[in-house]
Formats: sequence, structure tokens, C-alpha cells
Amino acid sequence: MQLTSPKCPFCGSTRTCPIFYGYPSDIEWHLEAVAKGQIIGREYSISDSDPAWHCHECSNEWGISNETS
Ligand SMILES: [Zn+2]
Repeated sequence: MQLTSPKCPFCGSTRTCPIFYGYPSDIEWHLEAVAKGQIIGREYSISDSDPAWHCHECSNEWGISNETS
């Protein structure tokens, strides 16, 4: 799976990754990607407008995630 992450709007870093909510269908890929810092894994969403992206540089989180699964 190819992931393309946008620049952080706060610090401009490209060390960003998508935030995944819920339990993925491919748990092995998910855990490996989390371990590599390619994605952030969250077990559940915390609000109706959860951020979709995370910045490793400044911990900024932005965007809106529409993942509800
Ligand atoms: Zn940042």
C-alpha cells in the first residue's frame, strides 16, 4: 500500500502520517506500519471531527477523518 502524506501546515515538515481509527482488516500490516512510524493507530475516535493526519515533528494533528469503520 502506498501512502502519500501532506506537509504539516504548522511546521512544514514532511514527516507526517495518516491516523487510522478502529481495527484494520490487515492487522499485521497495520502493526508494522505503526512500528515504522508510517501511520498512527487509534483504537477509537474521540470526537465527530477527528484529525486525519499527524506530524512527527511537532505533534500537530489536522484534517478531518471520515473513517468510521
Ligand atoms: Zn509539524
